[in-house]
Amino acid sequence: MITEITKRAVKRVLLQFPEGLITAASRISKLIEDNTEALTIVSMDPCYGACDLPIYQAKKLEVDLIIHFGHTPYTTEEDIPILYLEIPSNIDILKTIRKALRSLKGYQKIGLATTVQHVPSLQIVKRFLEEKGLTPIIGKKRGKIKYDGQILGCDYSTMQDIDDSVDIFLLIGSMFHALGATLTLSRNIILADPYQNRVIDMRERKRTELKRRWARISKAREIADFGIILSSKTGQFRLDEAIRIKRLLEDSNKRGILLISSEVSPKILENFTSFKAYVNTACPRITIDDAQQFRRTILSIEDVEIMMGKKKWDSHVNKIYPEDRT
Ligand code: SF4
Repeated sequence: MITEITKRAVKRVLLQFPEGLITAASRISKLIEDNTEALTIVSMDPCYGACDLPIYQAKKLEVDLIIHFGHTPYTTEEDIPILYLEIPSNIDILKTIRKALRSLKGYQKIGLATTVQHVPSLQIVKRFLEEKGLTPIIGKKRGKIKYDGQILGCDYSTMQDIDDSVDIFLLIGSMFHALGATLTLSRNIILADPYQNRVIDMRERKRTELKRRWARISKAREIADFGIILSSKTGQFRLDEAIRIKRLLEDSNKRGILLISSEVSPKILENFTSFKAYVNTACPRITIDDAQQFRRTILSIEDVEIMMGKKKWDSHVNKIYPEDRT
């Protein structure tokens, strides 16, 4: 980092940290200012991913460089130089993996996936499972995914690509990622959360989530006026998708009004009482993590497509584990 700042002769640098790393902000600022000519400014806005770069602040501050900590690149179209610094976790991951072995009993081919901070530990977990006589499989990277086995809350392609080749998945990460993955995949998921040292079989959660989801879609069928939420965050701005959803609603004599915000939260939406339901085109975390906190029905793009008959719900029902079907 210091070498890079010096090499680029950076005079002003904007630092962006996700929530879990923000405590390192003052230490890193001091490190940069003590060892380079650069002035540091730390972005205080919440940040959940590299989809959320502080471009507006960077332009306002006329910085030469943004340093984004904790994530791999998401967008490639920015006109301000960005340095991405991944911060691998040093937590003892095997402690939780040992605990997960009981849940993997009876399965042979284990799909492995994790978030960027645990990617360096993935090979350690692979070797550990091999020593136990299991066959771990890691999906190959593609698209905006930088590493084999890496997932994002909005991209489970490394898991989807091996969904048919494994018996079960072992996902090392958080409940948010496990929930997102479980709604996308056929195979069951065992969540190993190393920070909380807990192991959760996602089977029941999937059933609950699917029921909730179906209830939301059913309720939304009776609603005429929808707010369509657009995020102004760099990697979450999906205007074309929002307009497509608006037209889709209008085709069925419903109404969709576009709304834009940099932050989407239950509190912000409380002011918009004229809408009985919302469609979220921004980060899926909003629909997955916060759905129960919204007073109004909140749908994903796919929910609307199911509601409008453009996608079949059947394909989702069938995703309740093949081995359960009779
Ligand atoms: S899950 Fe949300 S926060 Fe994470 S990269 Fe995707 S859009 Fe960004």
